[in-house]
Amino acid sequence: MISRFEEIHAGITRIDVEYTRSGFAAAWLIREGERAAFVETGPLPSVPILLEALTRQGLTPEAVSAVIVTHVHLDHAGAAGELLRHLPNATLYLHAQGVKHLTDPSRLVEGAKVVYGEERFLATLGGAVPIDPARMHTPVDGESMDLAGRSLVFLDTPGHSLNHLCVLDTRSNGLFTGDAFGLSYRVFDGGIRPLIIPATTPTQFDIDQSRATVRRLAALQPDWLYLTHFGPLRFESGLADDLDAQLAGYQQVAEQAGADLSIPALTAALAALTKAHGQRIGMPEVPDWEMFAMDLNLNAQGLAIWRERALRRAAG
Ligand SMILES: [Zn+2]
Repeated sequence: MISRFEEIHAGITRIDVEYTRSGFAAAWLIREGERAAFVETGPLPSVPILLEALTRQGLTPEAVSAVIVTHVHLDHAGAAGELLRHLPNATLYLHAQGVKHLTDPSRLVEGAKVVYGEERFLATLGGAVPIDPARMHTPVDGESMDLAGRSLVFLDTPGHSLNHLCVLDTRSNGLFTGDAFGLSYRVFDGGIRPLIIPATTPTQFDIDQSRATVRRLAALQPDWLYLTHFGPLRFESGLADDLDAQLAGYQQVAEQAGADLSIPALTAALAALTKAHGQRIGMPEVPDWEMFAMDLNLNAQGLAIWRERALRRAAG
């Protein structure tokens, strides 16, 4: 059973925002002395949970100086606008490419309705509140932020999307990876290492950029990976190898599909690839593969869009 608020270590609390189910999407509260920062916000309905996390720490909304979103997908940043209304001293840290999407989230919302379907969108993501760009800061690659003496370093990490950044917490030597270092659910534990799969969501996913980002993050030799879906994980280089091998497999699947990029066919191929990976890492029993149904459907959509872009480019 995953608890809603879990104090991990080094002043970091994992908040299960219970998006679609428990154990699927996290936001993080970093506390240093009497200051705090959120990393990720979950979707719009998460705001009361995020505020409760503060209260449980004995912190006021005024104590929060930063809200960091790794990218503008609504399961990561959907609550940011509404949350900032409650946090008078907080600046939103995000990738420069994400500014326009959160200043006017209407396109983001329309896009998410297409990807998830309107019904599911309304039931889970809910929408997004516009944010005044005056409250935003867009760190460059390598820039660090000081949280009461604790240093958080921003890394430009394209691949999952063009507006993706990761955050290195120097105190715990842990990386907030957003979706740049894949997805990993605890119910699939039991093999020689955790099962991890890529997140190749529409619409900006790029395989080469993703592989380069995974290599770059692994080269930092972090101790911890704070995956949004669903850390923390202890880092081991095998996890990077697993992601790399699967991304290569995804590329092969897309290329072998030729011009027929049907989503059900791609989804089935990716599901087979995931199961084969599970076997390779020696997962002991047959788990509930249905847990990956939504992820693999999104992955297939993102992969198809990436492939269509490549084919268009090749056609000149
Ligand atoms: Zn994402």
